[in-house]
Amino acid sequence: MTFKKVKDTRHKEQVAEKVKGKGQGDQGTRINAQDSVHACLISLLFLLVIYLADMKRVYLKKKIANRIANGHPWIFANEVQKVDDGVNAGDIIEVYFGNGKFAGKGYINPKSQIIVRLLTRNKEIEINEQFFIDRIAECWKYRKKTGYIENCRLVFGEADEMPQLIIDKFNDYFVIQTLALGIDLWKPACVKAINQIFKPKGIYERNDVPVRELEGLSQQKGFLSEPFDTRIIINENGLKFNVDLENGQKTGYFLDQQDNRRAIQNIVKDADVIGAFTYTGTFEIHAAHYGARSVLGIDISENAIEQANQNAKLNGLQNIVRFETANAFDVLKQWSRDRRQCDVVMLDPPAFTKSRETIQKAITGYKEINLRGMKLLRPGGFLVTSSCTSLVSPELFLQIIDMAAKDARRKIRQVVFQTQSSDHPIIRGIENTQYLKFLIVEVQ
Ligand code: SAH
Repeated sequence: MTFKKVKDTRHKEQVAEKVKGKGQGDQGTRINAQDSVHACLISLLFLLVIYLADMKRVYLKKKIANRIANGHPWIFANEVQKVDDGVNAGDIIEVYFGNGKFAGKGYINPKSQIIVRLLTRNKEIEINEQFFIDRIAECWKYRKKTGYIENCRLVFGEADEMPQLIIDKFNDYFVIQTLALGIDLWKPACVKAINQIFKPKGIYERNDVPVRELEGLSQQKGFLSEPFDTRIIINENGLKFNVDLENGQKTGYFLDQQDNRRAIQNIVKDADVIGAFTYTGTFEIHAAHYGARSVLGIDISENAIEQANQNAKLNGLQNIVRFETANAFDVLKQWSRDRRQCDVVMLDPPAFTKSRETIQKAITGYKEINLRGMKLLRPGGFLVTSSCTSLVSPELFLQIIDMAAKDARRKIRQVVFQTQSSDHPIIRGIENTQYLKFLIVEVQ
């Protein structure tokens, strides 16, 4: 709708131009009564156009945290003093601080707890189709500069100043998520940008995400280009992986671990490796490729295990790596009771919580699986462990691992501690942009 509205505004500006031109042309001539009625109506129309074109405003309370002034793009409903009348959900609006200073432009959704998400701090910048084309071109420039070309997260929402927009690039194929109403309305502009910049083989929408419902949006998925075969193959670190863009988890593949998968290269040589929460087997297939003696990967999803087996075959590694469907919590417990031993344990569970209320449950979950994992390791083995729960800070994650080591009565040494790959840039102060913790410890 906003998309259409912008077009309308542009049309109105053209009308206004024409009106101005006519007025100048008539100067100095005698106008008859009918003409003056026309002129009057046209002036009224002109005023109406100016009125409609004027951007609606949101005024913030005088006393709000410095967060917004310091660059955070979210404005919560309880931080707002007043919203102009006539604002529609999804509109682009201007935001002003309590002292009257301009804060930025963004999109509004009065139904959402996060009422505004800012797109720019520059008053001169117009939010229109071209804005999105230019922004996505900028994102691509950054990815190319940092070496993420074939597969990458092309747009990482807030970290790219495009709140709630995710675009993953899988070589010639693109997957889009628009997770708030205000950005959903600009989906056609994003598609146009991808078409202009990349000439893609296909674009797919993966908006089957529950968070959209908080914004009054439906969950949906489907083609945003001509239909194509959504089972594609990508290359990563010299290996091949099947990606199911239509039915895979999230956008089909976890690009954020692409550098971390390389980080296991040395520690898996000649090792017996167990990987839990394997999904399509990416870490485990890397382990086999880097010289592991044997690899077992487990996941609770049968679909994921089927794809993991296909991926092992695709890389000719099916004799080294095998996959089984199982609940990691159960088997890790069972295996540690059985005193099963291996050289490397890899854990990459899904986010354990999205809410502060259940953070303790997440902490307990991380402690449990890491403790079990450590118990499986021969002395001098390695634990490769991840956490993508953004509410668990890097410091907290390290503390949990320390607690697990203490309970397992094992001494640990940190080998590697890093985060998501740089195509998911981090903005300090915008919590959710730093979410992945990836740790390798030697367990003595
Ligand atoms: N390591 C993978 C990503 C893992 S995503 C990669 O880099 O591609 C997390 C996975 O954990 C999902 O595949 C999900 O099916 C699985 N999972 C969730 N709960 C589980 C459980 N209790 N036991 C085993 N697997 C589980």
